[in-house]
Amino acid sequence: MMILIGRSNWLPLRQWKLWSLPRTALAYVIAIDLIAVTITTLAVRSTLSGPNSGVRNSEWVAFAVLAVASTLHLECARGIERRRELAANTSPHTNLKCLWIFAALLLLPLSLVIPLVVLSYSYSWFRVYGRTVAHRKVFSTATYILASGAAAAVLRAGGQIEAPRVPTSFWSLLVVLAAAATWWLVNYALVVGAILLATPEATAREALGELSNQLVVCAGLGLGVAIAAVQTSYPWVVPVLMVTVLALHRDLLLPQYQRAAGIDDKTGLATSSYWASAVPAELARADTLRSTVGLLMLDLDKFKEINDTYGHPAGDEALRAAGEAIRAEVRNGDLVARVGGDELAVLLPGAVESEVLEIAERIRARLTGLTVSVSTTSGRKAILDGVPASFGAAVYPEVADSMDRLILAADDALLTAKRSGRNQIVLARPDQLEARPEPDSAAAEQSGAATEESVADADQRLTP
Ligand code: GH3
Ligand code: MG
Repeated sequence: MMILIGRSNWLPLRQWKLWSLPRTALAYVIAIDLIAVTITTLAVRSTLSGPNSGVRNSEWVAFAVLAVASTLHLECARGIERRRELAANTSPHTNLKCLWIFAALLLLPLSLVIPLVVLSYSYSWFRVYGRTVAHRKVFSTATYILASGAAAAVLRAGGQIEAPRVPTSFWSLLVVLAAAATWWLVNYALVVGAILLATPEATAREALGELSNQLVVCAGLGLGVAIAAVQTSYPWVVPVLMVTVLALHRDLLLPQYQRAAGIDDKTGLATSSYWASAVPAELARADTLRSTVGLLMLDLDKFKEINDTYGHPAGDEALRAAGEAIRAEVRNGDLVARVGGDELAVLLPGAVESEVLEIAERIRARLTGLTVSVSTTSGRKAILDGVPASFGAAVYPEVADSMDRLILAADDALLTAKRSGRNQIVLARPDQLEARPEPDSAAAEQSGAATEESVADADQRLTP
């Protein structure tokens, strides 16, 4: 038996990643998969043999609508979902997929809900996640089937037997809510159990994941009830709800999306990890083009005083305003990043020494003249008259021939600017670096906290 792991690689049975799981986790996963198969068999049997055996035409139509809608949803959101799955790592990965499954639970017999689960996971495996390990997707499919089986049992026990099982009274509302809660609990408990058994080193916090992720599931279940109700009474409203779901999906996940894209939440500038990967790429490009790269490291002056006088939120507003001011002074192809608390960095591809100094002076003057209206802790507004900064400038390859030495040179220059009275620009000179040992040993001792972060990031990136 073989299994597909990428788009084209089939792995023989003995090499499946499944077998690398710890023994207890392996037993657990196989047990859940087998229970899912049993539930599927029982559901199919009950549909074929009950008093109203078989599937009605209206149910086939509802199945087709839900299958098309859930596939469209997966396809439109697949870029976001791939990033979210990567970000989830050892925490439970949640998504809005359950909305179609819960709508199906209210409209269809369990024997048709299960094919929808399988279709949805197969599609996302092929289209969304590409290279993820197959047994994980099979397990996720199994947890959805168990959760759906448990929720169907709650609906039945509450007297919601005939479809559509949408709430039409207070009692039926309670039953549907209990079914939704059961669905969520069963699925969540099964996933957390698997994470704890498969990665014993994961902390309880990691295994439980963030509350916001579980709210995604709640949103999905709630929307599922709405879709089922609309599909029952006004089927032509379903496409309108679809657009709403997709718009929500983007908005709900935007913070994660931004993090994945390397955007700092507070300032909208690039993050330090994005910066650490962009700098070597720019230097390599400059080598190829026999061009230069300008680097500015800047640290806001006496920034702590803003926090101490007006409060941390006011400091945040000043930081954001400084970031915007810097961006306004550079070209689109230049990169502005927040590499530490109040330390920012600007990469200027193609800039020679005179241009680097010119741009630095423009930014310095703009920051000095910046007026920012900030909210103070007392609730009043205050006007900040200038958010000045000190600058260290360095040019590649004139001053340094590697990323570490370039950053070190700019940081040294920044330190000199601070020591010489702040709010000024100091250009690094090649001879200043000559007396220095190699940056690997020197960086940690010489640089401030933010610089250490830059160098550490660069090291991490360079170390396989
Ligand atoms: P210097 O001129 O020597 O740079 O003085 P400074 O007060 O700016 O001191 P330093 O750069 O060493 O410290 C930066 C301060 O910035 C420390 C911290 O209180 C503040 N800070 C760091 N990150 C943030 C942030 O995200 N928001 C706010 N409001 N303040 C921050
Ligand atoms: Mg500072």
